[in-house]
Amino acid sequence: MLLCEQLERRFGGPAGEVAALAGVSLRIDRGEFVVIKGPSGCGKSTLLLTMGGMQRPSRGNLLFLDQNLYEMPAARRNRVRSKHIGFVFQLFHLIPYLTVRENILAGLPPGDSSRLPLERVDDLMSELGLGHRALHKPGSLSAGERQRTALARALIKKPDVILADEPTGNLDPVNAAYVFRFLGEYHRSGGTVVVVTHGQDAAGYASRTLHMASGRLSADPPPPETSTTSGHDSTPTIAAKG
Ligand code: ATP
Repeated sequence: MLLCEQLERRFGGPAGEVAALAGVSLRIDRGEFVVIKGPSGCGKSTLLLTMGGMQRPSRGNLLFLDQNLYEMPAARRNRVRSKHIGFVFQLFHLIPYLTVRENILAGLPPGDSSRLPLERVDDLMSELGLGHRALHKPGSLSAGERQRTALARALIKKPDVILADEPTGNLDPVNAAYVFRFLGEYHRSGGTVVVVTHGQDAAGYASRTLHMASGRLSADPPPPETSTTSGHDSTPTIAAKG
């Protein structure tokens, strides 16, 4: 479903160039639940954004459903992304002036006005315990309610994959467990999940755990001396199984 081929992403900065991705090769098959762990600044968010068609790599290819996302025109890439990929972020990224219901519907691809999602939004709100908050705006929601709204927004279009970046980073343990339970249900129903997380919340859900250090991926935990700053290190780049 997702194939990363030697992805590199460099950022210039006052202290010199940073290699956020230093040659990442990874294959993710349909139905996997992949957890990516690693220290702050090692490139996890950059990888997730690149996989989701949101951040062009400096080098390398990203194939999603056999299409090279960064070789197609931006408008087509946006269409692919909005139809097939659901995002969940640590800081929710809800639209502040829209209600819960409207925020969830904003997850639909533009032009999708079929009746089905309109019925589905009510089902999702009730499944996620948001029914009584349908007309509330994000500012009056708890963090858990905001993230459940963001989850519903990602799920409304029945995406092929959900990419979640620290989805429980701002939640208490009860709400964090709830988010993973819901991601687990989506996975059990055939969905594909890639989640970046620092915590242990994903234990019991992951079908594969990858570790990132200095812009590179490894299937095994990093050695103790692994640097927490970006740059090249000796962690082997892997072409993951699949
Ligand atoms: P965290 O766990 O703290 O969110 P991360 O592993 O997700 O970190 P990234 O956000 O991917 O790390 O960043 C990887 C490196 O790339 C960091 O050194 C970061 O400062 C740098 N970086 C990321 N985005 C940019 C940008 N837009 N401009 C310059 N440098 C950037």
